[in-house]
Amino acid sequence: MADMPLNNGTKMRSQLWFKVLIALFLGFGVGTLMGPDLILMDSGTAQNIGEWLALPGNLFLITLKFIVIPLVISSVMLGIADGNDNKAIGTLGMGVVYFVITTTVAITVAFFIAGLIQPGAQIAAASTADLVKPDIMAPDIGGRSVPEMLRGAMPTNMIRHMADNAMLQLVIAAAIFGLAMLRMDKEESQPIMDLMRSTQKICMTVVLWLMKYAPIVVFGLIANTVIERGFSAINSVSLFFITVVFALLVMLVFYALLLFFVARRSPIEFFKNSREVMIFAFSTSSSSATMPVTLETTIDRHKVSPGVTGLVIPLGTTINMDGTALYQAIAALFIAQAFGIDLTTMQMASIIVLTVAGSIGTPGIPSAGIPILAGILDSQGIPVEGIALILGVDRLLDMSRTVINVMGDMTAAAVMDKLMGGKHKAESTEP
Ligand code: ASP
Repeated sequence: MADMPLNNGTKMRSQLWFKVLIALFLGFGVGTLMGPDLILMDSGTAQNIGEWLALPGNLFLITLKFIVIPLVISSVMLGIADGNDNKAIGTLGMGVVYFVITTTVAITVAFFIAGLIQPGAQIAAASTADLVKPDIMAPDIGGRSVPEMLRGAMPTNMIRHMADNAMLQLVIAAAIFGLAMLRMDKEESQPIMDLMRSTQKICMTVVLWLMKYAPIVVFGLIANTVIERGFSAINSVSLFFITVVFALLVMLVFYALLLFFVARRSPIEFFKNSREVMIFAFSTSSSSATMPVTLETTIDRHKVSPGVTGLVIPLGTTINMDGTALYQAIAALFIAQAFGIDLTTMQMASIIVLTVAGSIGTPGIPSAGIPILAGILDSQGIPVEGIALILGVDRLLDMSRTVINVMGDMTAAAVMDKLMGGKHKAESTEP
């Protein structure tokens, strides 16, 4: 994949980035004009137009989702089988440990900032009195033992996992195949290696085609989201909103430190090279749909070795959700504060463990973190109906936490590449 010129040079990419940025602002502008905040047109017409505006984006997302599975399988298999035994197992093992550590950091940041700002303390008891439990299926995440969770993560039937989009099982299955191929005679594994290489190239070619339409996609998706939801919901929980955004920014600073001190890269350059991926994650609210673009950027712009990228990005997209974990921890604290519940140290420790475990099982799709949050609240005796307080702002915060989820994965790839002895020369962004 690294030998495939995935762009026509820096100039085209920076022009594309500029168009995408303009599209983002236009989307917000048009959405605000037509949305529920200004009430300049009747909501039925606005929603109809919004649906049409979002159509190119939705078609785009469907196509991306459709290539995610072949891309994950081929990338993970090649990431392992193209390298050597120790390196592949080292990257996988270190990847899991790294993800658990950064997710724990994210939750600690969340507790610290939410404890300091106390966003829920301002919510009057009266406004929590008549909250209705939202219609959410809360998984019983506290009720599963570790051996049970490990058993559940193992692949059993590839076809069913593909049909269910069960990424964790697919990543593990691809890793097992990759390891087996690594141990075989080269001639015997060659046909599958070639097949995987072609599969990966086909997927990335589709990504390249799609990227050309990114401005239309971003414009339509953002306009439709604003038309559907508006901004007024922020008013009632503004302190919660600010707390989450602030904490997410602190996570970005944490990534900058990791990039600078561990990966030995310029964080500014890294963030600049990540601009498209960030806007993409923001507009789609889905780290899974963004994954093909994340993969392409990590190899072609951040110059992380394809082997490490092929393992760390699919694995990270599946199990590493720092933004989601941070959000869930702040939301849990916020709701507890709003209901006047003082969490014990034991409860906080349980929330950390459950959030880390929950983020592994959270799929990278819009609002996927909410049912897991419901499960966490339930397990700690915090009223699940408190989620109704934050549902109005969930989409905007979902967009923001997805950016951090994806940035966390790319940072992980850069750090892991360095730790595995990779040498990089990241592409300069300026023409
Ligand atoms: N939308 C998030 C993602 O795709 C998941 C979530 O936090 O709901 O990464």
